[in-house]
Amino acid sequence: LIVVRGVNKYYGKLHALKDVNLTVKRGEVVVIIGPSGSGKSTLCRTINRLETISDGEILLDGQALPQEGKALAKLRAEVGMVFQSFNLFAHKTILENVTLGPVKVRGMAKDAADTLGRDLLERVGVESQVLKYPAQLSGGQQQRVAIARALAMEPKAILFDEPTSALDPEMINEVLDVMVDLAKKGMTMIVVTHEMGFARTAADRVVFMADGAIVEENTPEEFFNNPRSERAKDFLSKIL
Ligand code: ATP
Ligand code: MG
Repeated sequence: LIVVRGVNKYYGKLHALKDVNLTVKRGEVVVIIGPSGSGKSTLCRTINRLETISDGEILLDGQALPQEGKALAKLRAEVGMVFQSFNLFAHKTILENVTLGPVKVRGMAKDAADTLGRDLLERVGVESQVLKYPAQLSGGQQQRVAIARALAMEPKAILFDEPTSALDPEMINEVLDVMVDLAKKGMTMIVVTHEMGFARTAADRVVFMADGAIVEENTPEEFFNNPRSERAKDFLSKIL
């Protein structure tokens, strides 16, 4: 579904992605881990064209990613993104946050979008909050709304960039539970996270990045029990 081939990305002189190759099949859950500054966010952002690439190619469903215009807006609708900082619209209600995309981008009628929005908010467990504003919700609830908002666009895949890093510990699991549920239902997901429990249980594959490159790629069992590279061993010894 997603093919990243020979991608390099420079920020000025900084070589942020070094010849990255990654293939994500439909329904696969790929967890990306690695030290701070290793390029995990940059990789996610290039897949959604929030960043341009210096060379290489990224294909979605066999098609090269568009650079700009209408085609780019369509692509963004097809690949959802959930960020560490929720990024909800502060002056819109929870329900409006979810229905805005379907109405504006997909041209859905408002009634239909409302029904869809309420269904999705129920699915992530915040149905009783639909008329509140983001600031009136806990972090865990806001992040679940952000997931519902991504789902409302019926994306082919969702990218998660440290979705639980800004949350208090007691709220982390309520968000991870929603993500595990999505994974079970067959959503294609790329997840940058430090939650190794999630990686072990929900990932089909773990990708370990260091210094802008993919150093190691394996099943979670193999990766955690038998890391091959020194970088991965060193990283795991610090976090486990
Ligand atoms: P973290 O775990 O801290 O989120 P990361 O693996 O997501 O780290 P990136 O944010 O992808 O790392 O950053 C990779 C490198 O690119 C870092 O050296 C970072 O300083 C640099 N970088 C990221 N964004 C920009 C930018 N917009 N302009 C310049 N340099 C950037
Ligand atoms: Mg990051």
